[in-house]
Amino acid sequence: MKEKLTHPVFKIIGQCADEMGVDAYVIGGWVRDLILHRPCKDIDIVAIGSGIELAERVAKELGGKYHVAVYKNFGTAQIAYEDYDIEFVGARKESYRSESRKPIVEDGTLEDDQNRRDFTINAMAICLNKNRYGELLDPFNGYKDMEEQLIRTPLSPDVTYSDDPLRMMRAIRFATQLDYIIEETSLQSITNNKDRIKIISKERIADELNKIILAKKPSVGFKLLFDTGLLHLIFPQMVLLHGVEIIKGKGHKDNFYHTLEVLDNICKTTDDLWLRWAAILHDIAKPQTKRFEPDHGWTFHGHEDKGSRMVPKIFAELKLPLNEKMKYVQKLVLLHLRPIVLAKSEVTDSAIRRLLFEAGDDIDDLMKLCEADITSKNEYKVQKYLKNFELVRQKLKEVEEKDNIRNWQPPVTGEDIMKTFNIPASREVGIIKNAIREAILDGEIPNEYEKAFEFMINKGKELGLVK
Ligand code: ATP
Repeated sequence: MKEKLTHPVFKIIGQCADEMGVDAYVIGGWVRDLILHRPCKDIDIVAIGSGIELAERVAKELGGKYHVAVYKNFGTAQIAYEDYDIEFVGARKESYRSESRKPIVEDGTLEDDQNRRDFTINAMAICLNKNRYGELLDPFNGYKDMEEQLIRTPLSPDVTYSDDPLRMMRAIRFATQLDYIIEETSLQSITNNKDRIKIISKERIADELNKIILAKKPSVGFKLLFDTGLLHLIFPQMVLLHGVEIIKGKGHKDNFYHTLEVLDNICKTTDDLWLRWAAILHDIAKPQTKRFEPDHGWTFHGHEDKGSRMVPKIFAELKLPLNEKMKYVQKLVLLHLRPIVLAKSEVTDSAIRRLLFEAGDDIDDLMKLCEADITSKNEYKVQKYLKNFELVRQKLKEVEEKDNIRNWQPPVTGEDIMKTFNIPASREVGIIKNAIREAILDGEIPNEYEKAFEFMINKGKELGLVK
């Protein structure tokens, strides 16, 4: 590992440790990512002694311009160095109680510290002291597991997962991010221990879930969450999408696997977490709106509207932010069928303007979602639908260039209306404002000040505001 450990800071840490007469190691995620050639900004240093003292000494050696943040209660210290976040801690031994994922912590050896790690690939350490610089300490064969692309726990999986059930989410998260397999007994143990997830805070679960969603192919993680039964506990609304009902020989598609396909599709075009969430939730109300109509087969009327209204509760339960990100997801869920309607050839400019008005700047994301929503296995159909959407994109562009609706601001403001008719803020002002907006969206008048002003005068007359 010597050749790989090139950053000068590691030599400095080793030198300080030597001077203090303690052993120091870089450990955990940083070592794993070094082997994977994956960039990593968090460096964890374990000292067989005081991590805080080592941090203070290292900061001094670095020239005294780096602040050491000391967390006495946790026995840790942190230095923000260049782009890195270096955390120092003394080696520790942990023991768990059943009702909490917070262990009782005591000082320990390097081995104790490695024993408390979640996975073999996260338990490797590299020595930084001069005479052993670069030596890899890998008691659980994490290196071999990386070659075999395996997620395995250092101790018995039942102990590891039961001690800290968050590790079940982490196992699935690493399997998804790295495209690794979770070892058979470990996977079985997650299934057996799934109910323990209840002692984990929703915030931590959401953190891991979001990391799964941000992976290249999140369906891997969702399938594991579903198969182990964890999804039933953390996100039951999504489980309801699973399954196919058949009446009179007619079935509908399995909306769980369809949703996962849409999610994987959208990941090819965006890194944005919230657009990915929109893909997860776009059909979320299909189970609640499902009907079998003898003449039409299966229908899901209104699922976009109901789905959009389900979003706040789901976000609240998952402890996702209840802010503009949530509103964005709601909007995309609500509008996700609209571009399909616009693909019809006889569509009017007015319909296009209305969608531009409602979607605003999110129109491009909405189009991405619609394209990701095409999951037909029939290549001919896929090409046909994609071509239709290309046409919609073109129409949107043409109308937008002409009418400027995307970030629509009323050409005549409420102020203008009040001044012109010499009236206070009142119901009439609202009526006129709405009428102008509708006239523009319907194409009765262009989106321009003069025509809108003229329209306003006439509307005022109608309302008896002009003598
Ligand atoms: P990422 O940086 O991708 O979020 P990571 O595991 O490298 O993942 P941390 O979550 O900061 O980053 O964890 C750092 C190290 O601490 C891990 O590599 C692992 O050795 C250990 N660790 C973290 N969480 C746990 C846990 N719940 N149980 C046991 N060990 C853990």
